Amino acid sequence: MSVVLEIFSEVKKEGRKFLLEPEAKTVCMKYGIPVTDFKVAKNEAEAVKFAEKIGYPVVLKIVSPDIIHKSDVGGVVVNLRNARDVRKTYKQISKNVRKHKAKAKIVGMLVQEMAPESTEVIVGATKDPQFGPTLMFGLGGVFVEILKDVTFRIAPVTEDEAREMITEVKAYPLLKGYRNMPSADIEAIVRILLNTSRLVMEHQEIKELDLNPIIVYEKGAKTVDARIILE
Ligand code: ADP
Ligand code: MG
Repeated sequence: MSVVLEIFSEVKKEGRKFLLEPEAKTVCMKYGIPVTDFKVAKNEAEAVKFAEKIGYPVVLKIVSPDIIHKSDVGGVVVNLRNARDVRKTYKQISKNVRKHKAKAKIVGMLVQEMAPESTEVIVGATKDPQFGPTLMFGLGGVFVEILKDVTFRIAPVTEDEAREMITEVKAYPLLKGYRNMPSADIEAIVRILLNTSRLVMEHQEIKELDLNPIIVYEKGAKTVDARIILE
C-alpha cells in the first residue's frame, strides 16, 4: 500500500475525520508539495533534540486528534530560539491544551522549521457534489478572509488553468513585487496547484484540503500548515 493510503486507512481505523498536521504534510511531500521540515516529539528531551537537528528558530505545535484549530487553544508557538525556550513552551502548550479540553489526547509536539516571513498564499480543495474535486487559490490573510479575493477551478487543472488562477485574483500584482515586497516564485505556485490537483483526483476520499498559509519566496515556497479532511 502507498504511504498516502496507509495514512488514510490509519485515520479511518481510529475513527478520525481529519489528518494530523504531520500526516497531512507527509501526504503533501509524497505529491511534491513543499512543506516546512518537521518531526514529532514525544517528550521535552526529544523536542530539544529535534530542534537542534532542524536548527533554531523553531515552531512548536500541538499534535492531537482532538484539536483541529491549533492556535485557537494556544497550541502554536513560533520563534523558539534555544533549548530553554523549547522546554518551557512544551510545558506551556500542554497546559494550554489541557485547559481547553481536559481529556484531549496529546500525541506529541510538532517541532518545525520556522519559515521566514514573505508573501502568503492559500491553496484549497473541496468536493462539489456535482463537479467533484474543485481547487481554490488566493493570497492569504485579509485577501481571503475579508476581501474574498479567491478563484476556483474544477480539477484536474491544466498548467494553463493553474497560471490563469494565479493571474486572475485581484491581488496578483502583489505577487510580482510591490514597493519593498519581493516578487514571488509564480512557477512554484503553479507546481503546487498542479500537484494538489493530482492529489485530489487520485484520492477522491479527500473531502477538504487546506494549505494555509503557503509562504512564497523569490525562489521556492513552503507550506506552513496543511489540513486534510476525509469523507
Ligand atoms: P492553526 O491550526 O491554528 O491554523 P497553524 O499551523 O496555521 O495553526 O499556525 C498558526 C499560525 O502560526 C500560521 O498561520 C502562521 O502564521 C504561523 N506559523 C505556523 N507554523 C509556522 C512555521 N513553521 N513558520 C512560520 N510561521 C508559522
Ligand atoms: Mg493554519
